[in-house]
Amino acid sequence: MGIVGLGAILALGAAALVSFRVVRLNHLLATEIEQRQKLYSELESIAKTDHLTGLPNRRTFMDALDKEMHRSSRNKRDTCLALIDLDFFKSVNDRYGHVGGDEVLTVVADTVKDMLREQDTPGRIGGEEFAVCLPETDADQAFLVAERIRTAVEQTQIEFDSKAFTVTASIGVAHMMPGETRDKFIHRADTALYRAKHEGRNRVCLAPESLA
Ligand code: GH3
Ligand code: MG
Ligand code: MG
Repeated sequence: MGIVGLGAILALGAAALVSFRVVRLNHLLATEIEQRQKLYSELESIAKTDHLTGLPNRRTFMDALDKEMHRSSRNKRDTCLALIDLDFFKSVNDRYGHVGGDEVLTVVADTVKDMLREQDTPGRIGGEEFAVCLPETDADQAFLVAERIRTAVEQTQIEFDSKAFTVTASIGVAHMMPGETRDKFIHRADTALYRAKHEGRNRVCLAPESLA
């Protein structure tokens, strides 16, 4: 074999080695990208979720409410908001400790979730405060959904530290008015919740449709 032939064989061998390495590097890179994407979506899901109850956290809920309000205005559809606050929760903590209180929050979150339809979005928006966005729902229907949640919470037995007990919740419901801002919508639901507390707790109040 001449020098030229030997050179050609060596060049071919080198090219094969380079392309083998490129393929291997591509494979490593693809695996690395896949792992980073998985990690990113895990982190994203952690950031969006309330770690205790597994519900969407306040920020995620507010984003979902914004989206639903826009959709509802665009399509001239009904949307309601329910704000749920546990009654006398401070005394639950006093009696069963913070861990007992956390158990109550977890059980109530599951109870609320169980009462909802596919399109409804629940959230934990504060310590012992939950919210539910109810798309395609008029005021009367929303009142019934809230009543269902209230009754379910009232009837759910909570077991902690070998003791069984129940808790109650007050709920304020508002039906979105045309052109209403998110803050006003929440404010009306909150005012209805305040009334439910004031009128004796463990009840649902519907906000009047006025901007006052
Ligand atoms: P009301 O019927 O008027 O709503 O009375 P309340 O006692 O439920 O309301 P208040 O605002 O006085 O107390 C809320 C309590 O919720 C106080 C706080 O320590 C407790 N809390 C807030 N976040 C958490 C939490 O993540 N875990 C537990 N266990 N308790 C919490
Ligand atoms: Mg509260
Ligand atoms: Mg409370």
